[in-house]
Amino acid sequence: KPKVIVVGRSNVGKSTFVRLITGRKDVKVGKKPGVTLKINEYDMGDYILVDMPGFGYMAGVPKKVQEAIKDKIVHYIENHADEIAAAVQIIDTKPFIEIVERWNKKGEIPIDLEMFDFITDLKISPILVANKMDKIKKDKWDEVLDNICEYLKCQPPWHQWKFIVPAILKKGIGIEEIKKKINERVRLYKRLHG
Ligand code: GDP
Repeated sequence: KPKVIVVGRSNVGKSTFVRLITGRKDVKVGKKPGVTLKINEYDMGDYILVDMPGFGYMAGVPKKVQEAIKDKIVHYIENHADEIAAAVQIIDTKPFIEIVERWNKKGEIPIDLEMFDFITDLKISPILVANKMDKIKKDKWDEVLDNICEYLKCQPPWHQWKFIVPAILKKGIGIEEIKKKINERVRLYKRLHG
């Protein structure tokens, strides 16, 4: 079965997403980040959902541990690239924009963008979930989503890019769109790989 991986920094709403899509109540939401290196797999019927540990800076987590988590994710993706039909990457939209702007000035690449580039370089189809849109005023949505587009080196307007999905996962908003996109990618993968 093809795999669909779920990646994101800790606290972006990854568990909320996995809980919603699998319907499993044993997926804990809002837990303390950083203690797990575990990769969880869920059989979704047509595909395997692979939940990666949250990566990036986490308060109270030693840098070595953060690096080990990132290495583990990178190795998993490299070793399974040809089995992966899609990658759902979740971002916490507001801090994402702020961090990218700050880091751009320093000429450095934030870990979210690094991960996105890594995934797309491996020719894995991305689904970028711009989560926690409830923290952004409705009249700023287009501007913010266009900014995300630019940071991902895609030409705005954002809605011409089928891989960007605004979401408020806490309220279940965006989940149907994400499911639809996953199913499209899984179907395409199966058509191409027999
Ligand atoms: P994870 O660390 O990436 O697995 O994130 P969780 O799913 O545990 O969520 C982290 C926190 O963000 C929890 O308190 C969630 O309730 C909250 N959260 C998830 N989705 C949203 C959202 O759409 N909007 C807001 N404001 N909070 C959210």
